[in-house]
Amino acid sequence: MTEKKIHTAEILCVGTELLLGDIVNTNASFLSQKLAELGIHVYKHTAVGDNPKRLSDALEAAFAEADLVITSGGLGPTYDDLTKETVAAYFGRKMEMHEPSLEAIKGYFAKTGRVMTKNNEKQAMMPVGAVVFPNHYGTAPSLAIYDEEKNKTAIMLPGPPGEIIPIFNEEVRPYLESRRGEVIVSKNIHIFGMGESAVEEKLKALMTESQNPTVAPYCKEGEVRLRVTAKSENRADALHMCDKMIETISATEVGKFIYGIDIDTLENAVVQFLRKKGLTLATAESCTGGFMAKRITDIAGCSDVFLGGCVTYANEAKERLLGVKHETLERYGAVSEQTAMEMAKGVREALGADIGVSSTGIAGPGGGTAEKPVGTVYIGISTKDGESFRKLSLSSMRSRDYIRKVSVANAYDLVLKS
Ligand code: ATP
Repeated sequence: MTEKKIHTAEILCVGTELLLGDIVNTNASFLSQKLAELGIHVYKHTAVGDNPKRLSDALEAAFAEADLVITSGGLGPTYDDLTKETVAAYFGRKMEMHEPSLEAIKGYFAKTGRVMTKNNEKQAMMPVGAVVFPNHYGTAPSLAIYDEEKNKTAIMLPGPPGEIIPIFNEEVRPYLESRRGEVIVSKNIHIFGMGESAVEEKLKALMTESQNPTVAPYCKEGEVRLRVTAKSENRADALHMCDKMIETISATEVGKFIYGIDIDTLENAVVQFLRKKGLTLATAESCTGGFMAKRITDIAGCSDVFLGGCVTYANEAKERLLGVKHETLERYGAVSEQTAMEMAKGVREALGADIGVSSTGIAGPGGGTAEKPVGTVYIGISTKDGESFRKLSLSSMRSRDYIRKVSVANAYDLVLKS
């Protein structure tokens, strides 16, 4: 049997809770991201309740458009878990007991000390001819059916995100790669300090003309990510193609603004930078309210480089804890370059860190003046070589949340450049 390639997909999520708004459809978002990485175009997301007729109609409609339908949910042991049975009926397949799954389910119950009930055996019933993916994270095995005559593929995955994510990564991804007959590799270039449109302008030719690898931009709170995706017959070649493209992009003007490759977040870049240089950091925050310290301490084991921080919201706290001069606050105000630099110096000295970084600004929605409108933020930085600052003039139309997030990102960027 020669299986034809998969180019297009629809995602069909099953569960009445989705329609009631009790849960957010994070599975659809996860699956879409993964299929995009594989170069499979997702045409549509659909959510249906636990209703066999509507599920069957949704399946027909999805297969009318796409080569592949991936379902999530409805693989449980209860009477209303009907995804497998409905898909089997669509393909005209009977259900049969899949002994290895039955053994695995019994093993799962024995290992977790739970009592297996008769209806759990239903989870080991599979449509004839299905490819079964074991589930090491729950009881419902996942499965794929390929129908050569219809040239359609269905992949059925469980609902819980804690199960669907590892099963997709460990079992489904290699299956889809083998079905595509080629390997797809993506790498992410992380950029800060250059806006999305400026990046696009500099790399327009590469983005529009390069087919393999492709270069696609994504934007998030002041940061830009470029995803470079290459297809090849083998992984080594695809990786090499991505690396060549990254080299090309790094050699352009955009290169100066790249802070990492596949590094995930700016705070990760900061922690790696400090470790590499053997430096320590302390934070003094006003308008960001502890957000800088929070994001750094999201990284387990960062205490070797992050000593601590102070949230000094009131002027008095800035004076008492950080030693900001009363005269500075009186003369220039709390939102000023002078205060930002004194805060950074104060926390650096108080904690004996190599680098102190601070934020003071007007995150809004109120509190702005003509001279210092909402969105005015000063980031201060202090090292053994002295103090400096960066002034941000963010749009006052932006939300408080956005202004604070971009302020934190700028603080981390200054640390990376210190
Ligand atoms: P189970 O064996 O747990 O019954 P199942 O495959 O039948 O698994 P469902 O019963 O549909 O899955 O969903 C189980 C749980 O998984 C839901 O209560 C919900 O918390 C989560 N879940 C289901 N679908 C989604 C989804 N699309 N996005 C995010 N979470 C989901």
